[in-house]
Amino acid sequence: MNIDDKLTDLKGIGPKRAEALGRLGLFSMRDLLFYSPRDHYDLREAKKIDSLTHGEYAIVAINEIDKPKVAYPSINGRRTPLVSVTVADDTGRLRCSWFNQPYIRTAIPENPGGYVHGHVDLSRGKVMVNGSFCPAPPGMLPVYPLTKGMGQASMRSCVKTVLSCLTDSGLETLPDKVRSKHSLCRLSYALENLHFPISPEALAIAKRRLSFENTLYFTILLESLKERALHTEGISLETEGAAEAFVSLLPFKPTSGQYRIMEEISRDMASHLPMNRLIQGDVGSGKTALAFYAMYVAARNGRQAALMAPTAILAEQHYEKLRKLFGDKAVLLTGSMKKAEQRAVLEAIKSGGVSYIVGTHSLIEGGVEFNDLGIVITDEQHRFGVRQRAVLGSKAQSPDVLIMSATPIPRTLSLILYGDLDVSKLTELPHGRRPVATRYVPPDKRSDMYRYIEKQIKERGIQAFVVCPMIEDNEDVPLACSAESVFKELTEKLDVKIELIHGRMKPDKRDEIMKRFRDGEIDLLVSTTVIEVGVDVPNACIMAVEATERFGLAQLHQLRGRVGRSDKESYCFLLSESRSDSVLERIKTLVTSNNGFEIAEKDLLTRGPGELLGQRQHGESQFIDALALSDMDTLNEARNAAVELLKSDLPEEKAFVREVLNRYSHQLENIAIN
Ligand code: ADP
Ligand code: MG
Repeated sequence: MNIDDKLTDLKGIGPKRAEALGRLGLFSMRDLLFYSPRDHYDLREAKKIDSLTHGEYAIVAINEIDKPKVAYPSINGRRTPLVSVTVADDTGRLRCSWFNQPYIRTAIPENPGGYVHGHVDLSRGKVMVNGSFCPAPPGMLPVYPLTKGMGQASMRSCVKTVLSCLTDSGLETLPDKVRSKHSLCRLSYALENLHFPISPEALAIAKRRLSFENTLYFTILLESLKERALHTEGISLETEGAAEAFVSLLPFKPTSGQYRIMEEISRDMASHLPMNRLIQGDVGSGKTALAFYAMYVAARNGRQAALMAPTAILAEQHYEKLRKLFGDKAVLLTGSMKKAEQRAVLEAIKSGGVSYIVGTHSLIEGGVEFNDLGIVITDEQHRFGVRQRAVLGSKAQSPDVLIMSATPIPRTLSLILYGDLDVSKLTELPHGRRPVATRYVPPDKRSDMYRYIEKQIKERGIQAFVVCPMIEDNEDVPLACSAESVFKELTEKLDVKIELIHGRMKPDKRDEIMKRFRDGEIDLLVSTTVIEVGVDVPNACIMAVEATERFGLAQLHQLRGRVGRSDKESYCFLLSESRSDSVLERIKTLVTSNNGFEIAEKDLLTRGPGELLGQRQHGESQFIDALALSDMDTLNEARNAAVELLKSDLPEEKAFVREVLNRYSHQLENIAIN
């Protein structure tokens, strides 16, 4: 068996399972082997029933078991079977229940002696939800990010099948010397223990190895890019007097941070090397004006500037502002425009009649020909998997490149992630901005909070967001609130105009809802994290976050940035049923700080880089997925090892570096770009 064989070649993975795996982006044995579990349940030992905590996943021994019962409560007007059985150990009793799974009855043992594991819910007595029975504790069980048609048990069995086909020979990718110097385990051990670790220690060893290796490769790639950039000729632009002229057009006075970065941009654009700069700024810090400045410098030099936004509504927002500043030298190009309009815009771009070009991904689609593209800017783009910019870049000869990110990343991590870029940090907010008052809302105050929001909407005419951690209910996380269920609940409870928006909707539909919200036709928007990115709706002054514990700190800060965009009093309410110290601690961080860099730093310290990196879609970049597995010490050690290898004159080390570049250069384009 070869690690690159297709999953369908394996016994035990039929077309149905293969299809579900395909939806997760998993096609080969390699894909599945490197698909990291998002968590593990430590089920090596049974817990005592009297020590169970709310929300945890646990296993208990069954010393006694009653007869199962089936009830048919009415749910949404439909009678739904509810199977339950009570078990006991020497410390107490526990009710196990299963909703809408009548077939579970046959799996319930008649006699004590075995074990049951599942999610613990202490909100209505001592309950275990959707438990599984087993004769002995199963050890540490992986928990994977899943899709419809693929359950945890099924996923585990697929991974087991693939692991059982694995042989150590020919698998190892790191030279022995590197492995022993940095105390890294073999790849076969790492893969086995990534999925089914024999202990938490073994899991850490496995993650360290995988994370180290990927950081090593990633650094080698980025450093070689940086090297390449030093030998690329760009065009030197005239920047004398540009800043003063630009500032005189603005309706506000730039902050000192904005001034500093404008200077950095000027220097880059005046240099004969292409600009490769990332601007990291907290939400609302005023990055847009900086992008406009760079566009302005290009235009003053007779060149075109392209600004790419992730959504049509953001592109429109930028376009409206550019129109005000530069009149009909600005154009907008989005996929939803009429064909005739598009043609006219394309013609204007080609003839060079326009300088300020804003769009979505339609900017990189086949038909766009630039007259003289001098700079490419991406706004609020997530860093990875952004192939677009390379394509846009290929439409001009080494244009300047400016990237704007609203995710504050601590310096230590920034060095690894953006090793090939020059980074500018915008830390201060324009003055006069009121911080968003952030409050923790315990479960017993949840109803009051929604009443309060309803009242605020009616009395102050403001708008509100409710953010949920997932789209639909999922048997895997029974205690989290899904956007669909919260939407349903609030529609019944509250007398305001409510809409639902989430990432599985078509982009057109999403844009339409966002526009209606922006135009004030919707009072309350229930959403997933899709609203994280950029939109300015100054009248939205309240945000409530459901199941706060399911979000990362940095992400919560990002979300919170959607409110507090005007001089109105604004609030962010953080709901959580969790009573764990670490969750309350994180909530406290948000309640007390409004500084994104400070918050990201805290995330990195307490939860490692995974928290900052782990919120992207799987498969965007193998490297970044792996970086998220381990701690900063490992990442730094790997980075230093890469830098050393690149400097080495030893033939075998040079050969290794060459091999890495060969093996991964096809991924270079993906990384190069953003
Ligand atoms: P972000 O960095 O999140 O992209 P924006 O560029 O959208 O932030 O700026 C947020 C708001 O602040 C905008 O309405 C913008 O006009 C305003 N703004 C930007 N810079 C300043 C400043 N120096 N003084 C006052 N308002 C500013
Ligand atoms: Mg912005």
